[in-house]
Amino acid sequence: MIKALGYAAKHSFSRLRPFEFERQEAGPNEIEIEVQYCGVCHSDIHQVKNEWSNTVYPCVPGHEVVGRVTKAGSGVTRHVVGDLVGVGCMIESCRHCEPCHSGDQNYCEGPNSWLATYNGPMVPAKMAPDGRNMYERDNTFGGYSDTLVVNEDFALKIPAKLKPEVAAPILCAGVTTYSPMKHWGVKAGDKVGVIGFGGLGDMAAKLARAMGAEVTVFTRTKEKLEEAARLGVTGVLDSDADAMRSLKSSFDFMLSTIPEKHDLSPFIDLLKRDRTIVVVGALEPMAPVNNQQVAFHRKSVAGSLIGNLADTQEVLDFCAEHGIGPDIQVIAIQDINDAYRKVEKGDVRFRYVIDMATLRHEEAA
Ligand code: NDP
Ligand code: ZN
Repeated sequence: MIKALGYAAKHSFSRLRPFEFERQEAGPNEIEIEVQYCGVCHSDIHQVKNEWSNTVYPCVPGHEVVGRVTKAGSGVTRHVVGDLVGVGCMIESCRHCEPCHSGDQNYCEGPNSWLATYNGPMVPAKMAPDGRNMYERDNTFGGYSDTLVVNEDFALKIPAKLKPEVAAPILCAGVTTYSPMKHWGVKAGDKVGVIGFGGLGDMAAKLARAMGAEVTVFTRTKEKLEEAARLGVTGVLDSDADAMRSLKSSFDFMLSTIPEKHDLSPFIDLLKRDRTIVVVGALEPMAPVNNQQVAFHRKSVAGSLIGNLADTQEVLDFCAEHGIGPDIQVIAIQDINDAYRKVEKGDVRFRYVIDMATLRHEEAA
């Protein structure tokens, strides 16, 4: 076993604090990673606070992880010691179901679905049809820690052109917004609407723009209109009824990143006939959609979950090639509780990334 140090929440109402634990040594097909940076996703906050009612404590969040390979098992072929690698939301899948065979590990239909980087299997063992936990792990500890041990297939290569701290949020916020845009065929000249201008929204806007789309960001925050302009995209206050009316039936694709349940109907109105609005932000029951609004112009409301491994590598390479990445604010791990508060208030621009060296210094102190 390896001694590890991280930051964990012990209960839904507790702050994150230093936490010592053990990880298994790297097996033949696994690598050990010294974590350098970890992005702070709003999902981390939902999980820590048990907002999805499935949190296993202690909870060590973090699924936007970048670090150096420090050990490689005897069977490892994809990475060598010293490589800069990234780990996103998944660290294993069943590998036998149809989605896994098609390369869509993120839609794994195995008894426990995929194994998340933190909080264990996506479907808790007790919910699997036979009550068996195929991963033999009830909990997993994420990237708010000094080390991580993962199967080599679930580690992505960080392109040399990307700074490690900038690459980190691409592993979740990047692929979660890239994957649906790819799936629904966003292309040059399309009009794309991004709803909610936070960590995911910032990536979505930049990716869509790099794909050649004309991008509009819908925000509830006046100050973010200028920030949209700085990015070269149009900002619209979703409370501005005149602006909303003027955009009726004009979008080829829309992506909602709002982190809680919300009314989609004002946005469905803005789609062209036959087009799709994809919800990635709210993973919970939403306000009902009036099917008349959808049926009359054959529109679709869809959802999408992170992205598969191939898309994750693709979006990292795409960002390197196009010279784009998230706007980040690097923080010390000791500031994590304050950072959570700011994310919830919408104060972050646009992603906090933890410098994990601050944790190692704490260990030494
Ligand atoms: P952020 O908090 O960084 O951004 C969300 C933005 O949505 C805010 O900045 C704000 O933008 C807007 N917003 C926040 N609260 C509300 C509200 N009550 N009503 C309207 N708008 C609101 O979060 P992230 O971008 O990190 O994550 C967004 C969501 O996506 C989270 O719920 C997360 O769990 C989920 N997620 C889903 C994934 C998936 O696979 N489907 C993967 C990763 C994350 P503004 O000020 O512009 O209004
Ligand atoms: Zn995330």
